Amino acid sequence: MLDIRQIPVLSDNFIYLVREPASGQVAVVDPAVAEPVLAEAARLGWTITHILNTHHHGDHVGGNLAIKAATGCRIVGPAPDAGRIPGIDLPLGDNATFDLGAEQARVFFVPGHTRGHIAYWFEGAQALFCGDTLFSIGCGRLFEGTPAQMWTSLKRFRDLPADTRVYCAHEYTQSNIRFAVTVDPDNQDLRAREAEVSALRAAGKPTIPTTIGLERAANPFLRADMPVLAGSVGLAGHDPVEVFAEVRRRKDSF
Ligand code: ZN
Ligand code: FE
Repeated sequence: MLDIRQIPVLSDNFIYLVREPASGQVAVVDPAVAEPVLAEAARLGWTITHILNTHHHGDHVGGNLAIKAATGCRIVGPAPDAGRIPGIDLPLGDNATFDLGAEQARVFFVPGHTRGHIAYWFEGAQALFCGDTLFSIGCGRLFEGTPAQMWTSLKRFRDLPADTRVYCAHEYTQSNIRFAVTVDPDNQDLRAREAEVSALRAAGKPTIPTTIGLERAANPFLRADMPVLAGSVGLAGHDPVEVFAEVRRRKDSF
């Protein structure tokens, strides 16, 4: 079991505080900034023991050094990108495991958004921390990777159990949906998500976490191998990587 708290920071980032109750260990996932994290941990009476970074971007590691200085925590991050993670102590590669007390995370190397991006899957707690790789009804921009890499990375997530909760690093859902309905207009699961998200946002609530099951059904970036999506972007019968690349290209200029 994990107690997961969401801290909204900057314009649309989420930082997560994750506590494993048996040990009392607490991890911070992708601290863009330090102050709100230290304040929330103090309010909860939680002692931060680890930082888990998914990738090197400033809005994911900006709080690393200040949180480490304040708490003495250990910084865990991607081995393929260790040189770009401030203060890293424990670099982890694909399929490595990390124990937060009694809960174990498996590391997935998921290049595409950046060349060194990783994700943390807590199988027992049914939670995935995927940084900027998968968003609700979207995916990260391809800053350093190819469509083939990103499609392969996203397919690894798609294969996880349907009830896996997905804790991504940004609240982009509503704008992602505005785009998604242009390439998958007849998808009833997407329309249902659209209605749900409108209601959540109108009430000032976050749309995250989402689930693997919901994303598998409604996220066009997980559906590049579906004939209906290929047809909709004029690529019927083409390789899923080409379909994925075309959907990503359209989103980039939407
Ligand atoms: Zn990023
Ligand atoms: Fe980001």
